[in-house]
Amino acid sequence: MESIKYYSTNLKAGEVTFSEALLKGLAPDRGLYMPKTIPTLTADEIKSFSNKEYYQIAFEVFKKFLVGQIDDNELLALVKDAYNFKIPLEKGIDNKFFMRLDQGPTASFKDFAARMMGRLMNYYIQKENRKLLILTATSGDTGSAIANAFYGLDNIKVLVLFPDGEVTDRQRKQMTTLGENIQIISLNGKFDDCQALVKEAFSDPELDDLNLSSANSINIGRLIPQIVYYFYSFSRLRSGKDSDDVIFSVPSGNFGDMMGGVLAKHMRLPIKKFIISVNENDEFPAFLKTGFYNKIEPSKNCLSSAMNVVHPSNLARLVALYGGVMNEKGEISKAPDMEQMRNDIYSVSVTDQETNEMIHDAYDEYDLILEPHGSVGWKGLMDYCKEYNIHKDQLCISLETAHPAKFPNEIIKILKFDPKLPESLQGLEHKEEKFDTLENDYLKFKKYLTNNYR
Ligand SMILES: *Cc1c(COP(=O)(O)O)cnc(C)c1O
Repeated sequence: MESIKYYSTNLKAGEVTFSEALLKGLAPDRGLYMPKTIPTLTADEIKSFSNKEYYQIAFEVFKKFLVGQIDDNELLALVKDAYNFKIPLEKGIDNKFFMRLDQGPTASFKDFAARMMGRLMNYYIQKENRKLLILTATSGDTGSAIANAFYGLDNIKVLVLFPDGEVTDRQRKQMTTLGENIQIISLNGKFDDCQALVKEAFSDPELDDLNLSSANSINIGRLIPQIVYYFYSFSRLRSGKDSDDVIFSVPSGNFGDMMGGVLAKHMRLPIKKFIISVNENDEFPAFLKTGFYNKIEPSKNCLSSAMNVVHPSNLARLVALYGGVMNEKGEISKAPDMEQMRNDIYSVSVTDQETNEMIHDAYDEYDLILEPHGSVGWKGLMDYCKEYNIHKDQLCISLETAHPAKFPNEIIKILKFDPKLPESLQGLEHKEEKFDTLENDYLKFKKYLTNNYR
């Protein structure tokens, strides 16, 4: 079979293979890579997933996107190594379920994407006999997800910069207690300063020999892993009839998670409706309604902090999938098929007050502990089912993207107890921390890079 090519959503860069898209991240025209054709699965293939483990489903999905790009046995080994944790499906009410993507090493759904991207990068780098240094600036969660995902890989080193005093103790320890190929810098500055240093290093030709790369969320290597859990949850919760279908609700910020779901739908997963639940940063529901797109600038500071986004970076991919063109600034030069998009997708903005009330109600009514992001998703599902009078037997799945114990203050305030830490986050306080401190100065940072990595 011929391999799938990947094009840039800005349409001004050449088509590339999967491994090139993976190692480049952003296309040279600043667009995002998208598969030129979306592979499909037959109803029988999808049915067979009910008897497969998570990593086996991941293997089947990846295989479709990576035809001719990786050996089957090697791919199988990578997915097996990446997905060694549980994905609990908890019942809320009626046939409505809650998919918990919070059991990975950093208790965030970002583990699913980061772990597989790390392993795939490592695989291709190794084949080309290259090394890679991943530079990441973090305000907390992304850095720890990347550091944990790449921990122990042979050909990739990771350097994470965090602003001192701006990350929580727990977030810092998730990065600084790892060691091996993971190095951490506490910068005397703000998150924006960390990001500026990283950016300057990327564009510094004198550092070309260090093979710097980023692992940011727009990488196609992070998108494909996020298709898998939609297939998985459906395979576990479907009744087995040919007519089975499902409604998904996804708490969304930069829209990577929901793009995984939309791709799953295009691969023929019978998704009846896709609910994109956002917080008070409501640029997308407004766009879906009116067809006019306006960023929310500056973004509103809502409880579901990982979803406080000015302009969802993956939106260009959704627009592309529906035949339109949107550049990295959010400007649309060709309108997508809004009717088709509205057919497939419903979107709702959830206020902080509603987020709080939903955490409270879900716990009171059916013992479900939600954190703010998951609460936005669940509330979106409730609103949709009410507005469209969805039958109580309809299978619905809402995604939980982080563990409640990552938001102890919010949970204590609303539910009056401190949620128990997941195993992956336990015992951190006893582990030894190792990190360097650096002033906010590019030349000093550059010297650090050349001293340590040349
Ligand atoms: C990153 C994140 C989101 C948003 O995911 P996107 O793919 O950016 O839409 C939601 N919840 C949590 C807890 C996150 O960390």
